[in-house]
Amino acid sequence: MTGSDDRTEAVLLRSAERWCARNYEPLPVVLDRGEGVWVWDVRGNRYLDMLSAYSALNQGHRHPRIVEAAQRQLERLTLTSRAFHNDQMGPFLAELCRATGYGKALPMNTGTEAVETAIKMVRRWGVEVKGVPRNAAEIIVCEGNFAGRTTTIISFSSEASYRAGFGPFTPGFRMVPYGDIPALRAAISPNTVAFLVEPIQGESGVVVPPEGYLAAARDICRANRVALVADEIQTGLGRTGRMFCSDWEGVRPDVMIVGKALGGGVYPVSAVLADEDYLDVFRPGDHGSTFGGNPLGAAVGRAALGVIVDEGLAERSDVLGGWFIDGLRMLDSPHVAQVRGRGLMIGVVIRESSGPARPFCEALMRRGILAKETHRQVVRFAPPLIVEREVLEAALGEIAPVLAGEGVRA
Ligand SMILES: *Cc1c(COP(=O)(O)O)cnc(C)c1O
Repeated sequence: MTGSDDRTEAVLLRSAERWCARNYEPLPVVLDRGEGVWVWDVRGNRYLDMLSAYSALNQGHRHPRIVEAAQRQLERLTLTSRAFHNDQMGPFLAELCRATGYGKALPMNTGTEAVETAIKMVRRWGVEVKGVPRNAAEIIVCEGNFAGRTTTIISFSSEASYRAGFGPFTPGFRMVPYGDIPALRAAISPNTVAFLVEPIQGESGVVVPPEGYLAAARDICRANRVALVADEIQTGLGRTGRMFCSDWEGVRPDVMIVGKALGGGVYPVSAVLADEDYLDVFRPGDHGSTFGGNPLGAAVGRAALGVIVDEGLAERSDVLGGWFIDGLRMLDSPHVAQVRGRGLMIGVVIRESSGPARPFCEALMRRGILAKETHRQVVRFAPPLIVEREVLEAALGEIAPVLAGEGVRA
């Protein structure tokens, strides 16, 4: 399709709008090819992907090692269900546990499923290990959280549009302001089983909590026998300049949830990581998924994890991210209220008086940079972690005039 005309593009745009439920508002670009940090539209225009599918593409598009692992596995065995064993899942989870320092893992597919799995696990842990009465377990969550879209997960969302009309909701969640340690301490009751938190809130607009927040939360959780559950689906696997964002504060959460980049942009792979005292609350038949732990996903997961470790993507993100954040701050744009983030997980907050972030993203698109607004005022920059410094330098050259307002059509 590459090299097609405007008409082809218009037809494809219209078909998506006509036949797909309108649950997203994509930028008007139709992609048909990707390689590394680059994607191409059907007309043959090249773009730098600075969204990376919300960090599912930390390794870049079609990383050769991941594609090869997938192809090899496609030719041997793709699905067994957990009714039988396969030769990929065990080694995959062993490598994942070794790389992360946890005792066990439970594989799922999407991030949402992994969060659901973690919720069920800590509730049962509360009943069986901590001694919380049945059906009384409470989980503390934060304002501005994002953990997926199931009915239970949106039950603890603070975002009106995620919830409106979708009730009734699942009880058992208590909300505290993000970054607020006294509020966390005050919210704990004898029935509290877990504190579920993102070390940086991604969908909420790359919100970085105050220094020391996670470590203080860990101490409070430990003192009260509450499981610290880190949702590192977006922040994990190198994105923030460490293997996990929790590593920045030397925190080892009791439960770690991973997804997105664990599938290397090729296939959905997620997992819940914890030690035996948590994961052993599941017994045969209690919980499951038809595709969870399938050999194709496991083979992809092994390669995806291998690339992050072997190519030192966390260190790359640290070095390049620090440099890029400085570069963005130095632009000193009158339209920018704040530049925030860690590693290559960066949010540029557009001033309310300059209008929403969307027209800035559209202007960036016309200059060959694909980024997406999150939460109306924030442009998120999160390129694949394999990106070269020269590419980021060139990107900064395109971003500068846009943040100065050039080509931004309100
Ligand atoms: C994306 C995301 C999820 C949900 O993952 P899906 O794969 O979309 O189901 C959960 N938590 C966080 C922090 C995320 O960024």
